[in-house]
Amino acid sequence: MDKDKYDVHNYMEDVVAELIRLYQEKNPDLCCCPRCTMDISALVLNGVKPQYIRIETKVGKLDQKLIASLEKIVNKACQQVKDNPHHDDDFDPEKMYLENLSERLVEQVLIEVLQERDDLDFDQDMLSIIAGLVLNQVKPRYAVTDRGGAYMRLAELEHQFFPTTIAIIYNVLNQLEELE
Ligand SMILES: [Zn+2]
Repeated sequence: MDKDKYDVHNYMEDVVAELIRLYQEKNPDLCCCPRCTMDISALVLNGVKPQYIRIETKVGKLDQKLIASLEKIVNKACQQVKDNPHHDDDFDPEKMYLENLSERLVEQVLIEVLQERDDLDFDQDMLSIIAGLVLNQVKPRYAVTDRGGAYMRLAELEHQFFPTTIAIIYNVLNQLEELE
C-alpha cells in the first residue's frame, strides 16, 4: 500500500472555509491574506470534530445549531489571529499549506498494521473508507506548514498516539469484518 492508493478529505474543511469567508465579508477590518486565513482555518478545524466520510457541506443546508456553534469558534479564531497575526513572517504561499498532520500519521500506522495483516486485501475505495473512519476518531492536528515543518512536528508527537491509533484501526477493521 502506498500513499497514492487512497484519498481522504475532511469535509469540515469546506464548511469552515465558507464560514470564514462569510465572516471576513461581514468584518472588513479582518485581514483576508492567505496566511491569516490558513491560521484561522487551522485553529477552527483543530477545535471541531472532523468529518472524513462525505457530508453535506453547503452552509445553507446544514443544521442551524451546528452552524451557530461553528460560527462562535470561527469568530474566536478570527479575533485570535487578528490580535496575533503571522503574515509578516517568512511565508511562501507556493510552499506552505494547511495540512492535518494526523492524515499522514494515520497513513503511516495504517500501512504498518496492514503489512502485518496480509490476509486483508482492500481496494482503493475501501482503503479510503477505512482511513476516513479512523480519521474521524483521531484528534485533528492542523498546521500551516511546509514538508520540513510537518516532519519536525511528527517528532514531537505524544507517545500515546501510536497505541491509540492502532486500537482505533483494529476497531474499524473488526467492525468491517462483522458487517461482512
Ligand atoms: Zn494577514
